[in-house]
Amino acid sequence: MATVHTPGTGVARRHRPARAGAGHDRPQLTVVVPMYDEAAVVDLFVERLRPVLDAIDEPYEVLAVDDGSRDATPVLLERHRRDWPELRVVRLRANSGHQAALSAGLTRARGAWVATIDADLQDPPETLAAMLAAARAESVDVVYGVRADRTTDSAFKRLTAGLYYRMIRRLVGAHVPHDAGDFRLMSRATVDAVNRLPEHHRVLRLVVPALGFPDTQVTYRREPRAAGDTKYPLSKMLRLTVDSLTGFSIAPLRLATWFGLGGAAVTVLLLALAVVAFLTDHTVPGWTSTFVAVSAVGAVQLLCLGLLGEYVGRLYTQLQGRPSYFVAYDSGEDDAADTPTADR
Ligand code: UDP
Ligand code: MG
Repeated sequence: MATVHTPGTGVARRHRPARAGAGHDRPQLTVVVPMYDEAAVVDLFVERLRPVLDAIDEPYEVLAVDDGSRDATPVLLERHRRDWPELRVVRLRANSGHQAALSAGLTRARGAWVATIDADLQDPPETLAAMLAAARAESVDVVYGVRADRTTDSAFKRLTAGLYYRMIRRLVGAHVPHDAGDFRLMSRATVDAVNRLPEHHRVLRLVVPALGFPDTQVTYRREPRAAGDTKYPLSKMLRLTVDSLTGFSIAPLRLATWFGLGGAAVTVLLLALAVVAFLTDHTVPGWTSTFVAVSAVGAVQLLCLGLLGEYVGRLYTQLQGRPSYFVAYDSGEDDAADTPTADR
């Protein structure tokens, strides 16, 4: 916590809110909730989450990360903050994406345990109590919320999610729990470890299992979105897939090698055929075959270049060290709002 100079008073004071759960005492539990244009669900979410957390009967904080919403989300959150002192709002300056919003939450969470949950009530808040109990009973660092039932998701979502998890488990390793999204509970040690990772574009559902900390699972039923529309259009799903792939596996680069080898083999074959045709005086009017070969090789080269570009691009952004989000405001650090801060 920073010591700030308060203008006008001439005194430097320790800058800490006096509230229970968000102040001096480290809360037992921080619940990180990324929110992007979630005005339709904020009230429902608060209504459902608060009794669950109050019932756990330990100091907690709810860290709502407003991911640059353009609707009434920040207004509604401020309204709830008035009569829910445990609610803390962190606002990012611009929409930075689900994973970046989660990262912002993890960096700022103060709890001994930190849970991440979606705002749309697809992850039932009641499961949080079970997660905390499981973590303590089994002395583990991570508790994954695993979707036992996805029947409420659309067929398209289930298909793409099924493909995503199958691919990831194949490429990254079977230690990635199947159908575990970003609903999980982590110990302070886990969160500190994640926060120390230098990488940008981190995909938490892969980074956390990769740490290899002791874990367990709690299954839950995926509920339909309480209100509003999904904030994960196809473009964001693709982004997540590309980040997952390139962040965790060099398999695509190997794919490029295989394409290259295959292309080379075909080329050798074509050359042999051409020599045979030449020797036997069978001159082929081969405009079509030439054209096809040239374009096939061109396509393979382009594909390989594209894959290389993906990695080079990642190196480039990593070197630039540009933070993947900026915090505009943190209700837990009231006066610090003026200076934009970037945790990473
Ligand atoms: N979200 C976010 N920033 C984004 C997109 C989504 O913070 O750019 C949040 C969103 O508000 C929600 C969570 O991430 O709390 C999951 O999004 P959503 O429910 O739309 O995804 P889906 O369940 O459809 O995969
Ligand atoms: Mg959702």
